Amino acid sequence: MSEFESGLDLVHTALRDLRDRGMVLKASAEALERLASVPAVEKGVSLPAGGPRSESVAREVGPVRPVRPSSARTKDENKEDERAPHVPSRPAPVPAAAAPLPLDSRVAPLEGTKAERLAAMRGPVLACTICQHLAKRRTQVVFGVGNPEAELMFVGEAPGEDEDLQGEPFVGKAGQLLTKIIETMGFARGDVYIANVLKCRPDMPPGMPGNRKPKPEEMKTCLPYLREQIDIIQPRVIVALGNTAMEGLIGSTEPMARLRHRWHDFQGTPLMATYHPAYLLRNQAQSEKRKVWEDMLMVLERLGRPITEKQQNYFLPK
Ligand code: URA
Repeated sequence: MSEFESGLDLVHTALRDLRDRGMVLKASAEALERLASVPAVEKGVSLPAGGPRSESVAREVGPVRPVRPSSARTKDENKEDERAPHVPSRPAPVPAAAAPLPLDSRVAPLEGTKAERLAAMRGPVLACTICQHLAKRRTQVVFGVGNPEAELMFVGEAPGEDEDLQGEPFVGKAGQLLTKIIETMGFARGDVYIANVLKCRPDMPPGMPGNRKPKPEEMKTCLPYLREQIDIIQPRVIVALGNTAMEGLIGSTEPMARLRHRWHDFQGTPLMATYHPAYLLRNQAQSEKRKVWEDMLMVLERLGRPITEKQQNYFLPK
């Protein structure tokens, strides 16, 4: 971190403390004007003419929003909607996050190998405290794991308890099933890249077990990190696991039955939606496994991977 950035950090921390103590912060028009006229002093840190909070600064300080009390996730909240029919010809929704990544919102340098750029991102992301309520409760930030050169990327919603403890996405029961799916596709887990929309475990009320669904505003705040990971890795295909991941990625709240088995777009990268492995653990029906598998066959086809007859026929009724 440069001297400028650590100085800025100190100022932010002090301002945040004052704000958290309920102090109303005021600045003179002259001071704001002076701040706005500061040139871009450091790579990745710029102050726009419109005001003192560039996107990178905003990401450090975080949204100045009241934090709603968190509520436990109900069983039904987790259910993937199965009632709606599958309509493959529906046009894809306009991607919510299709805008190019603004230069000043990046945390990694533009130069270097994919591995180097991801490694450069890791530190700032692990230190992120934008969502203070999440930062206070998490064990660690779950950055993402896998091959920086991956052609296939899986995106889940948020770390659960196991992931929060181990610092790696999809390591619990759902993660073990995801690993099986990846291996059945003919990849090793380490060949692909796995990440979540939200990098911190959604906080639960003290003493409350289980996990809760990330809130839209939490996903929106964290999305720039995932966008940057995708921008660096440039996978040929992204697979969104579950409705919440789709909501975080493209803002769609359509039921999974309508989202799956057709191509969407995330910033120019083909995006396939499928059921979350946790859904398959709750619903053991062969027909549900087949649906996920059919989505994965479409992914393999798109990647130009050979598909064996055995793979073609997995989970078909005998
Ligand atoms: N579910 C997710 O969506 N992500 C994880 O990392 C684990 C479980």
